[in-house]
Amino acid sequence: MPDDQSRLDLFIDRMVSQRACLDFAIAETRSMPGPVFELGLGNGRTYHHMVQNVKGRPVYVFERAVASHPDSTPPEDRVILGDVRETLPAALRRFGATASVIHADLGGHNREKNDAFARFVSPLIQPLLAEGGLMVSSDRTYFDDLTELPLPPGAVQGRCFVYRR
Ligand code: SAM
Repeated sequence: MPDDQSRLDLFIDRMVSQRACLDFAIAETRSMPGPVFELGLGNGRTYHHMVQNVKGRPVYVFERAVASHPDSTPPEDRVILGDVRETLPAALRRFGATASVIHADLGGHNREKNDAFARFVSPLIQPLLAEGGLMVSSDRTYFDDLTELPLPPGAVQGRCFVYRR
């Protein structure tokens, strides 16, 4: 992180990058029929953006405790409740390799913990993506057979990552 960036600068860069990368991923996969997975609902801002922009594909949310803004709360049958370390393997049995877009925003304030967690969950996420599917992540993730893509215009290096299967 450059020393001259304030927390506000970083937050803005993250929000701008999330939107640019999500819009890119949604557009790139628009002809794919498979579901979209949101890992980490939080306040529900990115979930809300996805349901507004994804057409003709269901958006499922993986979250351990739903506490989102009322306007951004998914219907019960689209919530996969629990710890992703357990719900991602269960989702592979349920959905197979069908996801057209996966967005992961599971991190908190501790960069080292976020990185350790991203290393742990990467192999649980990878098999859920359909061929041609895109993964967008706020943290660097660690995949064997996904290709990291250049960021779309408007996204800030290091604030978001995009991978394709
Ligand atoms: N993208 C969201 C938004 O726009 O409002 C913010 C997501 S917030 C940074 C991270 C969320 O991930 C939190 O709601 C947290 O409960 C969830 N989360 C973190 N670790 C998790 C885990 N192991 N299993 C399930 N959910 C988890």
